[in-house]
Order: sequence, then structure tokens, then C-alpha cells
Amino acid sequence: MSKRFILKIDAANRSFRLEDIDPANLQKDAQEDYSILWGESLAQYLLRQNPDDFVITRGPLTRFPANKSTVGYISPLTGVPHYSFVGGNSFREVWSLGLDAVVFTNPLDDMAEHYVTVSGHVPDVQVQFISDESLPRGQRSAYYHLVSKELDGHALWGSIFTLGSGAYHGYLSANVAVEAMYHAGRGGAGAVMRKFTRALVLHSGKRYAFDPEGLPSEVFRRLEKYGSRLGCKDAGTIIKLAATGKDPAGKNTLPAWNATQLGYPMAEIGGAEILLATREGKAGCYWCPVTCRHYHTMPVDYAPDGVDLFLDDFEPAYAVYAMLGIMAQKDTEGAKIRMLKEVDRKIFLPIEQSGCDVMDIGIAIAALYEGISKDIIPLSDVPEFLHNKESNFGSIEKVHGILELLETDDHEYRAIRCLGDGPQALADAYPEMRDSVFTCGAKTLGNAGHCNKLWTFLMPFSRFFSHYSAQIYKVSGNIPENPDQDTLQELFPSVIDEMFQREYFSILCNTLSCCAFGFIIFTEGGAGVELSHDDLLVKVLRFYGIETTREELMRFAQNFWAQSIDLKIKHGWQPPDADQFPYRVFEAVSQAISHPPEKCKEMMDLLIAEWKRQAKQIMSKYGYEAQW
Ligand code: SF4
Repeated sequence: MSKRFILKIDAANRSFRLEDIDPANLQKDAQEDYSILWGESLAQYLLRQNPDDFVITRGPLTRFPANKSTVGYISPLTGVPHYSFVGGNSFREVWSLGLDAVVFTNPLDDMAEHYVTVSGHVPDVQVQFISDESLPRGQRSAYYHLVSKELDGHALWGSIFTLGSGAYHGYLSANVAVEAMYHAGRGGAGAVMRKFTRALVLHSGKRYAFDPEGLPSEVFRRLEKYGSRLGCKDAGTIIKLAATGKDPAGKNTLPAWNATQLGYPMAEIGGAEILLATREGKAGCYWCPVTCRHYHTMPVDYAPDGVDLFLDDFEPAYAVYAMLGIMAQKDTEGAKIRMLKEVDRKIFLPIEQSGCDVMDIGIAIAALYEGISKDIIPLSDVPEFLHNKESNFGSIEKVHGILELLETDDHEYRAIRCLGDGPQALADAYPEMRDSVFTCGAKTLGNAGHCNKLWTFLMPFSRFFSHYSAQIYKVSGNIPENPDQDTLQELFPSVIDEMFQREYFSILCNTLSCCAFGFIIFTEGGAGVELSHDDLLVKVLRFYGIETTREELMRFAQNFWAQSIDLKIKHGWQPPDADQFPYRVFEAVSQAISHPPEKCKEMMDLLIAEWKRQAKQIMSKYGYEAQW
């Protein structure tokens, strides 16, 4: 196996060095498996050496569509290793610099005062530390500034990672944007990167063309087949909003208004009518034919053309519209489109410029409103415009006012300052909030969640127990009305089993640093559960010189899952029981499955017990002892 080339950038000493890793001679415990040492597994290996580092890795499938870079760090929100997968041009640039990973090491105590550029090609890589007082603090503004200054105005000539003002304030919900639109989001990546650099510009100077020659043609046939549902103008992730929040039969499963109700009238903004009327184009990651990122534009004063592109994905729409109850003034298409434009200007643009995770901000503001209305959060902790408790939900102006306060260094209001650190900070500052806020904090492994199917039950569960929560709500099965214990004990083993199958598959996707949307081409029926029986992935890996078999891949995936959970345990994670979930989870679930919250909690304990049983077996198989 070839060596991995690592660029280590020492932030405190403003120096750098090249290192290599020989996969045949890794420093590791005997039971650890790094037989695929790319993407997430390379990031994990590097973080084991030094958990303070901030790591960017790539996968091996060069010139393959649907590649991403992997950003790895210890999340300041959860305390455990976190990996984000970002697109844009980042993969291409890491590769064409001749690198397998860029590692920031030796952090400063506070925000770095420089940004970093990397150019050239191994071994002649050049790294510069640039102090630039004119670098804007807005995440979008910083991107355009650097395109102009470092890439001569040609955005495609490199890849740019930027922070927003939230990172300058030290907010834990700060993210990292790549090419302004693609985010390494929900683990607090920006709160970690800020101590190494204000931005990163990768600029290899190489312009490789897409060259699929020799790749099995089946890859492209399946990308077209499975990608079309994402690529058409009225498609993409945002359609989940309409499908789960405005069901014609009223069987909504999308929790809205801080999960106090299911369904939301404005969920139709995820429907075909509004999408066809507002979308202006689509973009995608370099070399990917799916181009699944649909955008509309907004007038701005920081971009050279006077407009900027904004993606309309599920997460931002859910976090802002459904969570905060924002409605159009009239039930007409025109009024809804006017509302969308106003929200863009007054809410999305400030959030984008702050570079804070939109889910964290939306969920935290929704929880704040509830805390105020229940007198848990004292009025002295919030500005006067929030004192009228009944009129907070639904107001665009109030959200805008909160975002303006978050922008200032004057943190006069304790509850507003908490929002910058995400919903968990509210639960920490006001312990009575603990039961009414979805967080991505203590005991969780992943993102602040939404639940959007009848399998609503699995989404909150996945945040606490899943290595890859995004896929878990798709697990098949159903909870019947008023289920008894025997029915659930029969159902849950297969649920957990499928959950693990999905996790193994996601491990392969992430260790090859691919896009989850594209990687499903390697599964049977595109379902994202088991590798396809025609061994397409094995054939593609062979094309890249990686000889393996289906069995070896699955063994690696299982082993890697076990060692990842073990690593998280070493960082303090232990599987919680249902008592440690916010009670709001059960209230929301209760609405979806017509079962009292207390009963839902008992069901959750059954599900957790099954997870522990199966997880213990898997860990034991690979030499890890599970202490539960
Ligand atoms: S499917 Fe979409 S997100 Fe995935 S690589 Fe292609 S353009 Fe990027």
C-alpha cells in the first residue's frame, strides 16, 4: 500500500512540515483495523495521535464523481470525535497538492490572527501565514474576499475554507464553510478551526479534467438513476418538509414549534409549486454529474456580481420555518414568495455570515421562546422585544433582532449568549429547559435532530446511539397503534440489526470519503443497507488499485464501528438510558404514534436494551469490552 502524505501546519509556531504514514507500519493496538486508511479512518488515526488537532483528509477515488473531504476533530459540543464531510472543490485540491491530509496542530489559546494558504505540490508545497486586517468576519464576505485576493477572482482555481463572525466570538455552534455553500457543520468545527487559522486556501494550480475512462459504466448509469431524484428542479432534500409537514391526510410527522406540534402550514414551501417558482439554478461538487444543490439568489453587497447563491436544503428550512413558526401573511403563492425573500434577507443571510450552524441556531431560538413563555428563562436575561411572551413565535423581526445581538461583542443578555453555543447551552444554563430542548450535547453522538417519519421514534434515538444518525430514520418497519411489550420485543431486534447494517455501509462511504447521495449506487437497490451483490464497489476499488473483497470490506466496517465506539467511550461517552433523553422527545413521539409519553419512554428503554445487547456482541467480536 502506498504511503499517505500529511501536511502538518503548526499554528502557534507558524511553521509546517511534511510527514508520511506507512499503512503497513501503523502505531496502533492489535485489534484496530485501518485496512482502508482514508477519509474518516485516516482522520480517526490522526486524532488518536493528537486529539487537539484539526484534520482534513480525502479518499482514494481520484477523478471519481461524488468525492468529499473529511473534516475530523473532537467536537466541543459532544466531547467525542466528530467527522464532517464537505464537498465543493476541496477534495480535488487536497489531492492535486499531492496530499492525503492537511493537519492543523499546536493550537493557539484564542482566535488565530492569520489565515493560511497552501500551494504547490508535494514535496514542494508552500504554506503561508497571512495576517490580513481587511479579511471580513462574515463567512460569505470572507469567501469572496479570498477568491478575489488569492484566486484572482476564479473560484474554481482552488478551494476556500472560511469561518464566520460566530467563530470570532467563540460560539460553539460555529461551522466551517467550503466554497461558501458547503458546510462542515454540526459538531462545532469552526469553534475548533478558529484556534489554528481564520481561513484556509488550497491552491494547487493544477486543472485536472474529469477522466472517467476505465471506470465501470454501471457507475454512471446508477448515478443517473439514483441521482435524478435529487437533481430535478422540484427535488432535493427540502421536499421532506412538505412530505412530512403538510400531509393531505393530516398524518404529519414533522415536529414544529420546538416539537410542540406535528406539521406546519408553511411546510408547503418544500413542495413543487414553490420550488419551481423560486429556484434559479443548481450546483454541485467538482466532477459530480448529479449537481444536487439547488439554489436561488439574493442581492448582497459583498459579492462581485451583487448577488450570492443560497441553497434550499431541508435542514435550514426546517430549522427556521418549522421550528420558529414563521408564516406568510396571506395564503397566496405571491405572499409566500415575499415571505421567503424577507426570511432570506433578515434571517438566513445573518446566520450565513455568522457561520453558525443553522439547526443549532433555529432549535435554540425555538427553545428560548418556550423557556420565556414558561417563565424558566427570566425576562432580565433577554431583550425587551422578547418580553411579550405570546408573540415571539412567528416573528421574522424578532429572530432578526436576536441575530443582531449575537453579532455584537456586548453579551448583556445571558440567554442570548447561550444561543451561540447551541441548544445544549440553554439546557446547561437553565436546567429546567433540559426536558424541552433537543440538543446535540452531552451523551449524544451526533446532530441536533429532527424527526420526520412515523419512525420519528428512531431519530432522537439515533442522535444518542448512532455513529451516522442521518440514515437511521430510514430503517424499515412500523410501530402499530398501542403496541404491547411482546410486539416491540419482536420488532426491535430487526430494527437495530438494520440500523447496524446502515452504519457499516456508511462507514465504507465515509472511509472512502464519498458523498452519501452518490455512494448508494454501491448498495442493493440503492437502499443504503447492504453492498450490491454485483460487487460494483469491489470492482471500482480494483480500478484504483485496492484489491479487496465484499467480505473483507464488511469485516473492516464492523471492526471500525467497534473501535469508533470504543474511542468515543474513551472520550467519556456511555450509552444513556431513556431517562437521560429530554422528555420533549417522548412528547413529540407520542403525537406521532398515539401512545402516552411515559409509554414511549418505556419503549425507548426497550430499544436501548436491544442496542446494548447487539452492540456488546459486535464489540466483543473485535476484542472490545463494553461496560454496560
Ligand atoms: S450528489 Fe450532490 S452533494 Fe453529493 S457529490 Fe454530487 S453534487 Fe455533491
